[in-house]
Amino acid sequence: MKLSNFPSVHALLACGLVVLISSLTAACDDGGGHMASTANPHASRAALAMLDKGGSAVDAAIAAQLVLTLVEPQSSGIGGGAFLMHWEEEARKVTAYDGREKAPMAATPSLFLKESGDPMGFMEAVVGGRAVGVPGVLAMLKLAHDDHGRLAWKDLFAPAITLADNGFEVSARLHGMITGMKKLADHASTREVYFKDGKPLPVGHLLRNPAYAASLRSIAVNGPDAFYEGEIADAIVETARNHSNAGLITQQDLGAYEAKRRSPVCRPYRRYRVCGMPPPTSGGLTSLMILGLIEPYSISALRPGSPMAVHLISEASRLAYADRSLYMADADFADVPVGGLLDDGYLHGRSRLIDPGRSMGKASAGTPPRRSAQTLGANVDVSLPSTSHLAIVDRWGDAVSMTTSVEGPFGAHIMAGGFILNNQLTDFSFRPEVGGRPVANRVEPGKRPRSSMSPTIVLHENGDFFAAIGSPGGSRIITYVTQTLVALLDWDMDMQSAIDLPRHVNRNGGTELEAVDPLQDRADALRKLGHEVKVRTITSGLHGIRRTEAGLDGGADRRREGIVLGSQ
Ligand code: GLU
Repeated sequence: MKLSNFPSVHALLACGLVVLISSLTAACDDGGGHMASTANPHASRAALAMLDKGGSAVDAAIAAQLVLTLVEPQSSGIGGGAFLMHWEEEARKVTAYDGREKAPMAATPSLFLKESGDPMGFMEAVVGGRAVGVPGVLAMLKLAHDDHGRLAWKDLFAPAITLADNGFEVSARLHGMITGMKKLADHASTREVYFKDGKPLPVGHLLRNPAYAASLRSIAVNGPDAFYEGEIADAIVETARNHSNAGLITQQDLGAYEAKRRSPVCRPYRRYRVCGMPPPTSGGLTSLMILGLIEPYSISALRPGSPMAVHLISEASRLAYADRSLYMADADFADVPVGGLLDDGYLHGRSRLIDPGRSMGKASAGTPPRRSAQTLGANVDVSLPSTSHLAIVDRWGDAVSMTTSVEGPFGAHIMAGGFILNNQLTDFSFRPEVGGRPVANRVEPGKRPRSSMSPTIVLHENGDFFAAIGSPGGSRIITYVTQTLVALLDWDMDMQSAIDLPRHVNRNGGTELEAVDPLQDRADALRKLGHEVKVRTITSGLHGIRRTEAGLDGGADRRREGIVLGSQ
């Protein structure tokens, strides 16, 4: 086995041995190797176990998701939704799988309005059944498994069932999240699982989840039908509707859910082709727009993280986020000008609004081609960070880049069947109209709420696979992913170094800088350029894998608790 460039190796690699490290570059003489980077060590282990058994990247992603539901319940789970980007080496093809939650058929645009007509408070809307969308994770994973699975569906459940039966130790991060969510103990379903004697489960507590194990056993044998119909479906409906903040979800909504295959949105950038997830997420489009807007600038000549690099990326972000807030929503419902927003002429014209010497302040939305006038109201974002991203490459060279979410930490704060129910409907605009104009992302029956999740696959110019990357982080996700793409594609950084770079965020407002040293000079320089600088903790959760001539190069975000595992 050849090894190179492994900055934080905790165990020595050898062909045939499992590798347990936080970042690595590895390849065996006899092939390209396989690798998984997820947000939790248990999930990375489950993924690796499937890959070692000859499973595909999709098999490994399913095993990891089933474990994440248990060990990282604050972030994602089978009661939530996900987007999965898939690279198929043999067909040289990227496919986008959409498992986003849908609004129940009884939902109306006024779902989050009070009787006065004003929007509800955010947490008022989050907690309870009101914001529970029809979960899409299992339907999507089954669709991807039908296309790309190599192991039997039921075999993918073994690691999660074992952990749910035998228990796992509560991590510092999980303990912190339980402690931080003040309303989590309000409902008996979550109180019984995550609290003991009225206190958040301590770090190291062995958490067993027999109800989840029972749900998994049933879904393992009977497939997702056992989730979308029958006992589990009944429990979801009962829990969501039987709450003082009652939900609208019905058995019919669950039975009618369908995951979708969609065409990815792709655009050339430098010597690469970047493919993102299309609507209903704004992630792919906005991130490709930012790249298109900075393309005329020689970013590679700038130092990573230098004030000028942060300035140019921030200004491009302002412009892209301005368009995002107006035009992006579920394209099955809204007329999203996908082609217009990615049009070279449009982007290069908008790029000329960037002044290297001065911030433009708040950007206004543009008018992309084939869009005669702005007839929409702007969407206002509110979300709290949760969500999870995983990247996996299998021995055949197929790859998965999947971002998965229950929306806010612990979703709707209620559980059925041993798993958290999402609050994804709060990703809709609470106000259906602004200034008399309809908001594209308003609630409508059967519609998917606009997301920011940005699972991304990058190809070389010749169409070969290069990288899989993504992150959690609410509407900041787009900036985390784009910034990391710039580090990989303009600055040729290795995956871990790209993930480690101090974060900066601009969502068409202040410029947020991650509170890491050295900061002062950068903050001062940006203030001189007219930025309103805010220094804060920024907890991205990037997980990615890159293919290089030396082999697979993986990284896991040290801001969370994930690890990269690989073996041959
Ligand atoms: N619900 C958000 C979305 O789909 C993600 C939330 C998060 O990352 O914390 O964009």
